[in-house]
Amino acid sequence: MKFPAIFITGSGTDVGKTVISAAILAAAERRELKLQYWKPVQTGGTDIDLGTVQELCPNAAVAPLPVWSYPLPASPDQAALAVGLPAPDIFGLRSALEASQGPSLLIEGAGGLMVPLNEANETWRDFIAETELPVFIVVSSGLGTLNHTLLSLEALDAVGIVVLGVVLNGPKHEANMQSLRRMRPDHRFHAFPQLDLKARDSHWYDECESLLDFLLAAPAIQADKFWTDADRDHCWHPYTQHKTASEPIPIARAQGIYLHTSSGEKLIDASSSWWTNSTGHGHPRIGAAISRQHRRLDHCIFAGATHEPASRLAERLAEFSHGLLPRIFYTDNGSCAVEVALKMAAQSWKNRGIETRRSFVFFQGAYHGDTFGAMSVGASEGFHKAFSPYLFSAQSLTPVTAHRSRICPDGPAALPRERAAMEKLFAEHGQTLAAVIIEPWVQGASGMNIQDLSWLQSLGRLCKQYGVPLILDEVFTGMGRLGSMFAYQKAGLEPDIICIAKGLTGGTLPLAVTMTSENIFQSFLDDDRSKALLHGHTFTGNAIACAAALETLNVYRDEKILERVARTEETMQRWCEEQLVKNGLIEPRALGAVMAWELPGSGMNDYFHPLARMVPIVARRHGLLMPTLGNTMYFVPPLCITKEELEDALIKIERTLGDLLETR
Ligand code: PMP
Repeated sequence: MKFPAIFITGSGTDVGKTVISAAILAAAERRELKLQYWKPVQTGGTDIDLGTVQELCPNAAVAPLPVWSYPLPASPDQAALAVGLPAPDIFGLRSALEASQGPSLLIEGAGGLMVPLNEANETWRDFIAETELPVFIVVSSGLGTLNHTLLSLEALDAVGIVVLGVVLNGPKHEANMQSLRRMRPDHRFHAFPQLDLKARDSHWYDECESLLDFLLAAPAIQADKFWTDADRDHCWHPYTQHKTASEPIPIARAQGIYLHTSSGEKLIDASSSWWTNSTGHGHPRIGAAISRQHRRLDHCIFAGATHEPASRLAERLAEFSHGLLPRIFYTDNGSCAVEVALKMAAQSWKNRGIETRRSFVFFQGAYHGDTFGAMSVGASEGFHKAFSPYLFSAQSLTPVTAHRSRICPDGPAALPRERAAMEKLFAEHGQTLAAVIIEPWVQGASGMNIQDLSWLQSLGRLCKQYGVPLILDEVFTGMGRLGSMFAYQKAGLEPDIICIAKGLTGGTLPLAVTMTSENIFQSFLDDDRSKALLHGHTFTGNAIACAAALETLNVYRDEKILERVARTEETMQRWCEEQLVKNGLIEPRALGAVMAWELPGSGMNDYFHPLARMVPIVARRHGLLMPTLGNTMYFVPPLCITKEELEDALIKIERTLGDLLETR
């Protein structure tokens, strides 16, 4: 059997779960397919259902696992309360399940899916969702079954549980069978007839065999490979040297700030899934908005047509900029948002008949994406080396960081020198610059390098002075990551174009925007069609993604996400100060919900330090999914992280550091 366990549930009580369990066990025994039966919760007397199973299948193996047993025939919460015994809970059930050894378990529930297990309102459905057990549903064949069966399937679908099949148990009812097959063609149904159970004759065994055949034919069981094998054989992962890379961590599900692996580990999402997750994984409001929008309008062409979610989202984003950036162009990832920004700046000059402004300025350490334009204004040497002959040339400057860094080894001491270099470049080339592009205040991919704010503000002033459009790549820093909706607001800058992506949909769907000033937009208006921005993507303005982004903005407002970032920033900055003294951490720094430091024992230019590869392995042992940027360790959690979750994360990080220091 492919699964370590299968859960047998019913559309209600008394639908014949126990008989069906026994029938599966009986057929399995004949085929020497090893299974163990476990009835974890028994109400209405001790071992009643186990007794029935043993009567129908005398040699059935019974799992040596705990059973929560109560005399009252009632739901587990009520039965436990009646005798003052502890009620079952998911933690206990799950621990028992995890302790089980040997053959696959056939687990029979008590009552239906939504029956409360305890006064904390945990249900069997919660247990199944948490353990990801595939489910076999038993329903009665007769009157009333349509409603109960359809509702049970919806309840399982809602939490993404794998359904292996539905068994209609009882007198043959062809009409019900047909209705169910018609209404849920995505599910498999099987009839198990009413039999003389006492006889246990050849007829009984034939039915048991065909029931087991039906169960084993479920596509989820038939899949001959675990999905991680399929990954190994077919997936080409980003930034991955497949010859030497260790196996990727298999993630089965996610909730809040946690990612859960298929082997049951619960890991804090320390990179907020590549800096995207702001509102927590699986946020029900965003999920509901996605589903609502899918039912209404999933996607339509966005040239010559429009729809409400894209229009409303553009309006809301423009409002956040207080009129500075009222024009919104949709794409679906950060690199493309940057490409569009570069094209907007370049074409805007050309449209106005100014052919001399053609050059872009970028900064050492910059990362703006992996498309050709974005690579041309990036400085990720190691990553983009193979393509350097194909890139257009641009001028670069060194950003001054508020700490010592790879790109600015002298830290703020470099301020006079680099400010002078910047002024010189503007004085000499200011009239030929098409635009300046920068990741404002924090350069992400180059190692969470925090710029000196006064240096950044001088850049803003120089752009104004020389009339050079300032493009802020806020793919990482936007959507509240640094504490204000857009980083430029907290930094006191006035950009002409900004790029927003990662956090825009709360971390759920790909969506990006390039937001620009009315001035730039106006330069594209002409009777000549070639002066339009002739750029677009198939999924431009995708309605579902826009609906997700709109709901994300509502969640930001209602759950006070920016206030949470302010609290996180305070705690992280305090932690950095403490760690500097306590553990001699190298250049610890924090801004907004971004925190970073250099790997213990590594120097500024030790990007490929051997210990860096150990970080994810050691961190995982302490409950963190924590990638690094070379020898820079960082913690960029989902913005919704609570005070308690943050404190717990910091303890886990400290333990990770402790182990790394020992490994050294
Ligand atoms: N700009 C910045 C600042 C980024 O951090 C990134 C992604 N790390 C990008 C652009 C590119 O975004 P995407 O990966 O969505 O293309």
